[in-house]
Amino acid sequence: MKEATVVATTEFDLSREKAEREAERLIESEWEGHGLPINPVYIAKQLGVEVYQMALQQDVDGILKFYEGGKTPVILVPQDAPDTRRRFSVAHELGHLIIYLRRNPGGYGPAPETDVFYRNPDSRTATKPEEVWANQFGAALLMPRQYVRALVGEGKSDLALASYFEVSLEAMSHRLDNLGLLTQATA
Ligand SMILES: [Zn+2]
Repeated sequence: MKEATVVATTEFDLSREKAEREAERLIESEWEGHGLPINPVYIAKQLGVEVYQMALQQDVDGILKFYEGGKTPVILVPQDAPDTRRRFSVAHELGHLIIYLRRNPGGYGPAPETDVFYRNPDSRTATKPEEVWANQFGAALLMPRQYVRALVGEGKSDLALASYFEVSLEAMSHRLDNLGLLTQATA
C-alpha cells in the first residue's frame, strides 16, 4: 500500500485564535454581504467543493474526500441527520480543507487524506489536533464571534442565538462557553 504523503505540520498554527481568524477570513472573502445565518454549503461551492447528502455509516457525521488526484474535493453528509448537524459537519470539513490549502498554497492535489468526521458532539473530547481545530473552525464559521458578542450584548438568550445561527443548542452553548459568554446568555 502506498504511504500517504506526510506534510510538515509546523508551519500551520493549529491554535483557537488561528481558527477564529481563518473563519473570519473565509467569511470576508466568500460570504460578505449575505447576512446570517452563514451557509457553509454555499461557501464550499465557492471553494470548488461539491456537497452531497447521502446514506452514511451510522456513526459518521461527515466525510471530506478528494477525487481526480486531489483536484476535486467533495464533502459527504448524512441524509438523515438534522440540518443543524449537517451544517456543522460541512463547516468542520471546510476546516480540514483550509488546513490543507494553507499547507499546500499551490492548491488542490496531490491527493490528501480523506477525513471521516465521527459523531462526537463535544469537541473537547476529540484528541487529534486537526480534529479539534476543525471543530473550532466550524464553530467560528457558523457562529462568528463578533456577531455572537453583539447579540449577547443585546440580551439574546442561548435558544434565540441557536435559532438565529441555525446551530444546535449544544453547539451554541459550547460556543458561548468558549467565548466566555455563557452566563450572560443564559441569565
Ligand atoms: Zn475531521
